[in-house]
Amino acid sequence: MKEVPKLFGSLVFNETVMKDRLPTAIYKSFQSAVRERRPLDLEMANVIANAMKDWALEHGATHFSHWFQPMTGITAEKHESFIAPTAEGCVIMDFSGKKLIQGEPDASSFPSGGLRATFEARGYTAWDPTSYAFIKDDCLCIPTAFCSYTGDVLDKKTPLLRSMSAVSKAACRVLKLLGVKTSMVVSTVGPEQEYFLVDKKMWEKRRDLKYTGRTLFGAKSPRGQELSDHYFGAIKPRVLAFMKELDEELWKLGVFAKTEHNEVAPAQHELAPIYTTTNVASDHNQLMMEFMKRIALRHGLVCLLHEKPFAGVNGSGKHNNWSLATAEGKNLLDPGKEPYKNTSFLLFLAAIIKAVDDYQDLLRISVASAGNDNRLGANEAPPAIVSIFLGTELTAVLESIAKGKPYVAGKSTYLKVSENTIPALEKDNTDRNRTSPFAFTGNKFEFRMPGSTFSIAGPNVILNTIVAEVLEEFADTIEKSKLSRNKAIYELVKKAYIKHKRIIFNGNGYTDEWVKEAEKRSLLNLKSTPEALPYMARAKNIALFEKHNIFSAAEVKSRMDILLENYSTILQIEASTMLEMLHKDILPAITGYNDELTIAALNKKGIGINAGFEAKLADKLSSIGAKIYAKAEKLEKALAKAEATKGAQAQATCYRNTVLTAMEDLRSSVDEAENMLGGKYLPYPTYGDLLFGVND
Ligand code: ADP
Ligand code: MG
Repeated sequence: MKEVPKLFGSLVFNETVMKDRLPTAIYKSFQSAVRERRPLDLEMANVIANAMKDWALEHGATHFSHWFQPMTGITAEKHESFIAPTAEGCVIMDFSGKKLIQGEPDASSFPSGGLRATFEARGYTAWDPTSYAFIKDDCLCIPTAFCSYTGDVLDKKTPLLRSMSAVSKAACRVLKLLGVKTSMVVSTVGPEQEYFLVDKKMWEKRRDLKYTGRTLFGAKSPRGQELSDHYFGAIKPRVLAFMKELDEELWKLGVFAKTEHNEVAPAQHELAPIYTTTNVASDHNQLMMEFMKRIALRHGLVCLLHEKPFAGVNGSGKHNNWSLATAEGKNLLDPGKEPYKNTSFLLFLAAIIKAVDDYQDLLRISVASAGNDNRLGANEAPPAIVSIFLGTELTAVLESIAKGKPYVAGKSTYLKVSENTIPALEKDNTDRNRTSPFAFTGNKFEFRMPGSTFSIAGPNVILNTIVAEVLEEFADTIEKSKLSRNKAIYELVKKAYIKHKRIIFNGNGYTDEWVKEAEKRSLLNLKSTPEALPYMARAKNIALFEKHNIFSAAEVKSRMDILLENYSTILQIEASTMLEMLHKDILPAITGYNDELTIAALNKKGIGINAGFEAKLADKLSSIGAKIYAKAEKLEKALAKAEATKGAQAQATCYRNTVLTAMEDLRSSVDEAENMLGGKYLPYPTYGDLLFGVND
């Protein structure tokens, strides 16, 4: 067993290393600059850069890179070596403060949604000193924000940092009114990452997995997740070896990888880290996804991060556990033993309820993608309707406030496990609800809608910003109120709850009744990305982003275009992949088997034997082959129509309404044919092979 505390953070230029290697005065002024979000002066940057370089060289690094998160949703890096020529024709290893603080990668090939013409290719990266530099592949990676020459935001980190400032400012203001002084409030996140592991040899045989990350065809396997025996089940040795290596690699990078377990679907797993500041959690989640993919390969596995790699079994999400904490570490969403007496908690809770109701559209949009559309509303996934689960006790507390009645607390309930061997367990004051998209889970909210491939930056930008907005509104109201402070807060909580309680739903979110009920409550049900995105440009949303300095109106528009174009591109690739598989793999397989059956039938007939099943099966297969071909022609036409459609919104809508439906239609017939094919004619590994393929 390796010594974990020694391993942990060994490749990170963290607080301990800085303290050790920087002159005390520099370390102190660096820390205060970061805390107060002041720019760093060049002199200080030079000293830090030099210390960073020495440390990196000692750890085997030869290169450095500004590490950033463009709108592709993954990270980008451009390695530069530390070498600098000397007059004698040799090299020294050099790294300056200027290079640490600012970089200039060519921005022209990253998505900008029309914000930056390609001739203005210049983009800037700026060091984000709130996230530590680290070493990956012998390269010193410096977390940075990315913007264009004209200052437009081109990445996911910048708006996240801005939203964190917005919520901190607003929360501090509210806390001050409550008599609590703190220098800042941080939003904290622990993202639980779900993923699938499949055998690499099988993965290689499927064009759909290779090109799109999900299966576009595949008949249901006789066994799926019905037995519920995979969840928390014993982990297979190969998967265990993968998880162990993953943990160790992540620990070296200072990622708090904590829990690894099997998920509900066969071949599905989860990794949850210990929560941390949102910005760092977001950087770490990117590293986590990258390392999952690369370490899987070392074990002959492929990690599928797609939201819905398999139809008919659970998809993968990224549960975003979110809370707010003061600089002193007090969790503002901790209800304590007596939530009904906890004014601060109730005020923050009411703000979140109002924010989620007022900005359902933005929360929905923050999780919209072609991949996640396959998951939201499907088996075991939260529906596309945003609602909040509060649990019985908190709902009762708010109900009594609404009715102006004192809350009578029930006795703490204890779970009796056994009469006299195991001590009784105190029950949490929130029961669990796995079907809610936004669930209160004891001392944090768990936003379950984000997809497994997502950068968590997007959903957290929205969460932080909408909560900041309502907290500011609340602070205004309290300040203006003529009532006593306590009374003013009580009235505010009461009013907010009564007005926004329609968003609270404690029942089973997976039922049709809920869909009907949500409609009655006039909650939004935006089923697909093209349906959801236009809401982003509503006046109230643009005003929100502009007020909190998150995005300008032009940046909102550019982000919408990027999301829509991405949606269309993914569907275009998926449809083309289906057609390629059809012509290269599926139709030849059908013909091959059909031939064999026909020849057998003819031969039998020739010598007077009853052709039995062969003629019948050949006939069936032949008809379904014809149906498949006709459906493929329809898909080709739909694809051509979508490709020719002008305008990002119109094109995405055409893909959704025409191409996607043609894809689904084609798939149903192909899956039917797959079930009839003889084993040696199967064109690709089946669902059974993929889901139950790792047994060693
Ligand atoms: P579950 O039973 O849903 O797995 P856990 O209690 O294990 O719930 O927590 C899940 C995630 O929530 C973990 O990543 C954990 O670190 C995170 N978490 C716990 N407290 C907070 C908090 N105050 N803020 C943000 N995330 C938190
Ligand atoms: Mg969870």
